[in-house]
Amino acid sequence: MKRGFRPGAVERFFRMLAGKSSPVVPSPPPSGPLASYPDVASWDHWEEFDALAWPRRDKKTYALVPTICFNCEAACGLLAYVDKSTWKIRRFEGNPMHPGSRGRNCAKGPATINQINDPERILQPLRRAGKRGEGKWRAVSWDEALDEIAGRIRVAFLEKRHNEIMYHVGRPGHERAMERVMRGWGIDGHNSHTNVCSSSARLGYQLWCGSDRPSPDHANARFILLLSSHLETGHYFNPHAQRIIEAKMAGAKIAVMDPRLSNTASMADYWMPTRPGTEAAVLLAIARIILCDDLFDREFVRRWVNWEEYLRAEHPDASVDFDVFVEKARALYGRFTTHFAEAESGVPAATIEEVARGIAAAGPAFAAHVWRGAASGNVGGWQVSRALQLVSVLVGAVGTKGGTSPAGWNKLSPALFAEPPAQRFWNELLFPREWPLAHYEMSFLLPHFLKEKRGRLEVYFTRVYNPVWTNPDGFTWIEALSDEAMVGCHVALTPTWNETTIFADFILPMGHAGERHDVQSQETHAGTWISFRQPVLRAARERAGHPTQYTYETNPGEVWEEDEFWIELSWRIDPDGALGVRKWFESPYRKGEKVTVDEYYRWLFENSVPGLPETAAKENLTPLEYMRRYGAFEVKRDTYDLHETILAPDDVRDSEVDPKSGVIARSGAPTGVMIDGVPRRGFATPSRRLEFYSPTTAEWGWQEAAVPGYTTSHVHARGIDEKKGELVLVPTFRLPTMIHTRSANSKWLSEISHRNPLLIHTSDAERLGIVNGDLVRVTTEIGFSVNRAWVTEGIRPGVVACSHHMGRWRLTDDGGSRWGTAKVTIERTGDGVWKMRQAEGIRPFKSADADSERIWWRDAGVHQNLTFPVHPDPVSGMHCWHQKVTVTKALKDDRYGDVQVDTKRSMEVYREWLALTRPAPGPGGLRRPLWLARPVRPAPETFVIRD
Ligand code: SF4
Repeated sequence: MKRGFRPGAVERFFRMLAGKSSPVVPSPPPSGPLASYPDVASWDHWEEFDALAWPRRDKKTYALVPTICFNCEAACGLLAYVDKSTWKIRRFEGNPMHPGSRGRNCAKGPATINQINDPERILQPLRRAGKRGEGKWRAVSWDEALDEIAGRIRVAFLEKRHNEIMYHVGRPGHERAMERVMRGWGIDGHNSHTNVCSSSARLGYQLWCGSDRPSPDHANARFILLLSSHLETGHYFNPHAQRIIEAKMAGAKIAVMDPRLSNTASMADYWMPTRPGTEAAVLLAIARIILCDDLFDREFVRRWVNWEEYLRAEHPDASVDFDVFVEKARALYGRFTTHFAEAESGVPAATIEEVARGIAAAGPAFAAHVWRGAASGNVGGWQVSRALQLVSVLVGAVGTKGGTSPAGWNKLSPALFAEPPAQRFWNELLFPREWPLAHYEMSFLLPHFLKEKRGRLEVYFTRVYNPVWTNPDGFTWIEALSDEAMVGCHVALTPTWNETTIFADFILPMGHAGERHDVQSQETHAGTWISFRQPVLRAARERAGHPTQYTYETNPGEVWEEDEFWIELSWRIDPDGALGVRKWFESPYRKGEKVTVDEYYRWLFENSVPGLPETAAKENLTPLEYMRRYGAFEVKRDTYDLHETILAPDDVRDSEVDPKSGVIARSGAPTGVMIDGVPRRGFATPSRRLEFYSPTTAEWGWQEAAVPGYTTSHVHARGIDEKKGELVLVPTFRLPTMIHTRSANSKWLSEISHRNPLLIHTSDAERLGIVNGDLVRVTTEIGFSVNRAWVTEGIRPGVVACSHHMGRWRLTDDGGSRWGTAKVTIERTGDGVWKMRQAEGIRPFKSADADSERIWWRDAGVHQNLTFPVHPDPVSGMHCWHQKVTVTKALKDDRYGDVQVDTKRSMEVYREWLALTRPAPGPGGLRRPLWLARPVRPAPETFVIRD
């Protein structure tokens, strides 16, 4: 018998809800399958009843316009429902045409509508009217803002102070666009947040395969190993999570290394709650089993690993023979027994053994990922990703179906029209010589460098970036940003108020997802796609025949978008073209005229996306029209084994083959490698092989770390005295509904998650006399914060954890973001000592949104990052987030949310870590290896240190 409602049940249900006397009783839904998404053919005119009007049957008509989410880097597709009677966005759902997200989103995607309708959002450009940080503003026109900012930059260029202009990005997501702007201006001014995010993990992958991100093919894996909570919140959260679950439903096993029982760990077959920083020991124990028990893919390793280079460098007396390499590798990792790994990590030897055998059985269908977690928490975190990749390499799971590929295989970096040449400046505020292998800019040390007078900034742009709150040592940021001698003019490009905008000179409102143009491509699976973020009201109106010149015409208030802003600003910096800037912002179709966004994307989609013009033509659309209609395009699928690609005769013409290494090079640049006599593409390393042995690391002062190894973490158990109440704080996770700063502009997300208690194991709590809900003081090297304890079995003993996406604050009664910020007072009590106290938690407030008066939650969480000193890894430059802390019951005068910090002490800690570095010059007098990736790479000659 068919399951379903009994006849009349639906009518009775609706009648009950509507009240018996209601004359309006909707018909039951028609029988048949549910329509998941409106068909694309109906996207111009979609009709549905207004759910809020029920029981009235108010029909609404919508234009459905695709865009992409901006609330993490995954770039999932969204579909905006634009009400055609009001030209307002009603809601966002998933875009079924998006190859990465396939119509699905996490909670943060649909919450975009809250951000757009936030009654406290910034709607016009603002200029500071008092002292920095005083919170006084006056509204200005875009013209006034543009002219003043452009004037300052122009003077800096004329005076050759190019290194005083800097752009610092928080939320990225615009393929190559800012690289082009920076190069068009001729400056080395691109800064990012990557060194508080993923640099260590990236460096490990970069050294192995010349691509700095892993691209796991989760959906086809038979065993998945995740270091951190990818299924729950991790990198490419929704696209990865859905594919991991697909694999699990098909029988794959999942293992998770995380000291915290995350939602991801709770879905895993093996939870491996490692002591923080010992993950590489476990991974090398797994590698040892695979090596010693002959479970490795001998042919793959022989053909693709640079073992010959290893033997020549580290065993010059041994014969260059593969069996000798295997013997040496077994000896190298001999000490990593499962018992050693258990003693280090606390994970039972039997579990490690079982996981190792599961990975070996999966062979090429072993997928793995580390992004933050262990790699971002510990000194030597880059060796964690080196060790993880070693496991993948041993079982031959690189580039395979169900394995892990270099990210570059699955990401499209589109060419843009008229590419400017590389800049001829090297900015040591970004890449100082102490960290020659830093994988990204030393971004979180910017205030420390400014205080040391390594440079100054004339114009400093922050873009959707909140370093005061996001970065460690936020009070040092406040000290630098408050000082006009260090930062002449701070321009915050932001959709929202935040802790950093308070210290800006201009606040320029920029659009959320659905209010801006850009393109994104991410390596979410074994395929390549590109997606188009577009201002949906503008696109809907243009579809209806109402052309728009600038995006702010259709956005709320005067909210603009960055594409048009940078074009306009560049023209004002160089109005007559004499500086050589303006020409890069001229139309590729109308000589000497200012490029429009339509022209920018027309050129990109016509010239840089393989297959798009042909596909669009089949539907009688231009490539731009196609992208405006569908929002995404799948370029390739099933990208496997690209390293095996045999080079065509044209590819090897005019090339030389190195007789010893087999590397094929043209004009000195490696393009392939001879493998068993066949010219193949290989990997993007100097050897074109997978570099088990990293000559780069060895030549640049880290010989002892040239092969995957185990670095003793700064929070290793040996340095923790539990008798004194010392524990390791893991602050690197977030709750799945949290964005960074912008969660506080979403009423839905703020209602779901609004506190970040300190997770502490039952046994530790008992030992310290702490019960659930107690106020506790968490003391770091430079200060303390006061939080509430959450006593749980879901964390390993000896470790406490606190989500870093809470503790938002504001200084004034309004100040914005009141869905998720506490009002605080800040006091500077002595030389370098700062105190913050919450004056008021979250309260209901009057606004245009009636829900703001219904706020029932009071807690905004605790801002812990302020109490962290900087810990720059001496190799990767990554901030090592984990902290040795002392946890005690709160003192008599402590109050929830209190923070105290000594910034003099934080400068001392900075110098202690600085002393661990091994500065350039390296071989050839270089600042940095020439082959190593660098964002917005300057001209080759700037790599040479000349002073
Ligand atoms: S995972 Fe969530 S927040 Fe990230 S892009 Fe997708 S929908 Fe947006």
